[in-house]
Amino acid sequence: MDHPDPCPATAAAETGTDVCVVGAGPAGLALALMLLRSGVRVTLVERSTALRREFHGEILQPGGQRILDELGVLAAARARGSLALSGFQVLERERVLLDIDYGRLPVPYDHLLALPQPHLLAELLDACRQLPGFTHLEGHRVSALLEQKPGSPCTGVVVRGPDREPVTVRALAVVGADGRFSKTRALAGIGPGRSDSFAHDVVWFSLHAPGRATGKVRVHRAAGSAVLVQDSHPDRLRIGWTLPHGGWSRPGRGIEEIRDELARVLPQFADLLHEQLTSLSGLTLLDVFASHAEEWTRDGLVLIGDSAHTHGPIGAQGINLALQDAAALHPVLVEALGRGAVTRADLEPYARRRAAAAAAVHRMQRMQARAMFGADGAVARFALARAAGLVTRTPIGGKITRKVAYGTDPVAVRTDLFTAAAAHRTG
Ligand SMILES: Cc1cc2nc3c(=O)[nH]c(=O)nc-3n(C[C@H](O)[C@H](O)[C@H](O)COP(=O)(O)OP(=O)(O)OC[C@H]3O[C@@H](n4cnc5c(N)ncnc54)[C@H](O)[C@@H]3O)c2cc1C
Repeated sequence: MDHPDPCPATAAAETGTDVCVVGAGPAGLALALMLLRSGVRVTLVERSTALRREFHGEILQPGGQRILDELGVLAAARARGSLALSGFQVLERERVLLDIDYGRLPVPYDHLLALPQPHLLAELLDACRQLPGFTHLEGHRVSALLEQKPGSPCTGVVVRGPDREPVTVRALAVVGADGRFSKTRALAGIGPGRSDSFAHDVVWFSLHAPGRATGKVRVHRAAGSAVLVQDSHPDRLRIGWTLPHGGWSRPGRGIEEIRDELARVLPQFADLLHEQLTSLSGLTLLDVFASHAEEWTRDGLVLIGDSAHTHGPIGAQGINLALQDAAALHPVLVEALGRGAVTRADLEPYARRRAAAAAAVHRMQRMQARAMFGADGAVARFALARAAGLVTRTPIGGKITRKVAYGTDPVAVRTDLFTAAAAHRTG
């Protein structure tokens, strides 16, 4: 339950900006950079003081890679440490059921990228810091929205830093980019729209694995669960064991039983599992769900990225969608700010466009979930094999690969809206 500040407008310190972005994840930082480059003043509020985001995605699809390239930050983010992966595979007991080969996509985005989120966030933040009009309130949490009454136009936020003193940030628009448990969304009284269609526990851990890279993202299907394995820079494997809710918490299940179960699904990594998975404290349990917020826009308020829509990790779509949301919202905000106010009607084209793209990913993930967690046995394997044949060998497969890589509605950055001064400062 969220308790807004009782008297938000009386905060002692006060500052003004054009756009206040809450949350410095991929969505918030990318949008902040696009707006700054367009000459818009941005205050970015981020609760953490470090860029570590351990349990967040790091597989970047070609659509997201292209957006970062258009922003001029991809090469430097990659140079901080990353791995190019050739595609996705679904396997069952060593047998490849589905192979999505990104090599059939046009260069230079003919691969998936395992890019640690801190590398991506650091480059975006460095680029923002070079531009005028940028204020970064690190270590600050949003605690209230400035609105006359719930649902009336939003004119800013109240945030609190490490000293707990309130700071008022007045803005023409507030962007909630604060992730799947969005406080901005909750303060606005907007329901998260959580759905049961993809609701799983993910047990997440990583192994030190020099020389054991697979070069792909692999999903190993096993009775009622799926184990996601991906290479991670440097010399690591990230493993996400995905089970239906409650499937994890069987009483008495100890680390030995878990290790044996995982080693049966991943016999090629049994040695690493036995060496390194020695206590339950090495595992992190995450509640992973799909959601689509009940509203994305109000007068002066808009939600993007995970705060608007959340997806499961299988299929690696969250960062792609977050960056594309930012690229789609950028021209809409620039145009509305030019008129001096940001109304819900101004924001609607963004919401319509991106709601359709998010819904398409939800549909795809529902199908994936059925393939991953659905019936075992010969019929399911036959259906998957038919789908695999289509994806691997036919032109339809190329189309499906492009959809997974770029989404149903690829978005390009409107670099034509960047002002000469901002472009000059960033070289
Ligand atoms: C286990 C796991 C694995 C995943 N793997 C992948 C993958 O491989 N590829 C992929 O594309 N996606 C993946 N995802 C999804 C992906 O991480 C998200 O979709 C993506 O990070 C969303 O970006 P965002 O900017 O919208 O939100 P976030 O990345 O969640 O960023 C939100 C930011 O808001 C800040 N914040 C939160 N509350 C407040 C507050 N009250 N005040 C101020 N700041 C606040 C947070 O600190 C954070 O920096 C995965 C998700 C999970 C859980």
